[in-house]
Amino acid sequence: MTKDDQQSIDVARIETLTHQLNDYAYQYYALDNPSISDTEYDKLYRELQDLETKYPTFIQAESPTQRVGDVVSEAFTKVTHSQPMMSLANAFNFEEVAKFVADAKKSIGDQVQFVCELKIDGLSVAIQYENGRYVRAATRGDGVVGEDITNNVRTIKSVPMKLRQDIDIEVRGEIYMPKDAFLALNEKREEAGLPTFANPRNSAAGSIRQLDSKVTAGRNLNIFLYSGVFSDQLPIRSQQDLFKYFPDYGLRVNPLTRVCETFEEIQAYIEEMTAKRHELSYGIDGIVIKVDDFADQETLGYTVKAPKWAIAYKFQAEEVETTIRDIEWTV
Ligand code: NAD
Repeated sequence: MTKDDQQSIDVARIETLTHQLNDYAYQYYALDNPSISDTEYDKLYRELQDLETKYPTFIQAESPTQRVGDVVSEAFTKVTHSQPMMSLANAFNFEEVAKFVADAKKSIGDQVQFVCELKIDGLSVAIQYENGRYVRAATRGDGVVGEDITNNVRTIKSVPMKLRQDIDIEVRGEIYMPKDAFLALNEKREEAGLPTFANPRNSAAGSIRQLDSKVTAGRNLNIFLYSGVFSDQLPIRSQQDLFKYFPDYGLRVNPLTRVCETFEEIQAYIEEMTAKRHELSYGIDGIVIKVDDFADQETLGYTVKAPKWAIAYKFQAEEVETTIRDIEWTV
């Protein structure tokens, strides 16, 4: 086969994958009803990324690698985010995590600190507080424009309607459905002859994007907050600061976060949490590793879709595929 023949095959494959992945994303994000597993999706996505790296001039404008994939429903009022809500780059093995750590140390210096967090299997939300009062909540949407879900987020009891300090702040985090609520909901839906949700993330997304807030209120959703947009008046300059101050403001954070300085420490955290994941009352699909200091984060910057200062280590394929069965074992 000539080099030109190979190129035509690869370019045709880029077009097919782009089309296929966008179809899967529509079913996943717009209908909350995926038709393939996340592992299969991630494998095809990686194949597309590799081909696009080889042939950058053939990247399609609508490629899923060039944008955040969530669909913005016409049924909701649109909200433009104060700053884009991005996705995360993925790592599927320890070598990719080691490379992320090495690159960060090379750019920032050996003293750089990382914060490791659980990757909560839910959907991200941005919540605005003005003078300490809850005013608005929005989905990530396409990253620039999200859906106004203010009334539905109000039904989540751990979201304060008034903070413990009268500050202006935008906080971001993950809305999730606890495992027991997910299993109970699917059981009820099955009994009623309704389609069941594939995973806790889709059930959380389906529940928060309801037109009737009473339906959302009955779904037992909860939240962990892990980022935000902060003015200089606030004392938050790093992930560590965030985890220190958020609880003072009345905001719920995940308690299993850890500061790490080396790849070995990060690897130990990942191994520990991988073993622990089935004991947790909520689903996690990986570990997020973030450069701690916000000034260092800005130095590292962003791609079109994700920050370069963070990476999501995704759990191994066989574990991801058995998620639902494992949940049943542990509840
Ligand atoms: P992602 O889920 O891989 O990672 C980004 C998201 O992680 C953030 O937006 C945030 O919501 C979440 N997150 C959870 N805990 C976090 C924490 N502690 N810190 C920061 N963020 C945290 O990326 P994505 O763009 O939301 O979705 C892509 C993934 O969705 C794919 O990798 C695939 O697994 C899945 N997907 C599956 C299908 C399918 O058909 N099965 C289709 C589309 C997407």
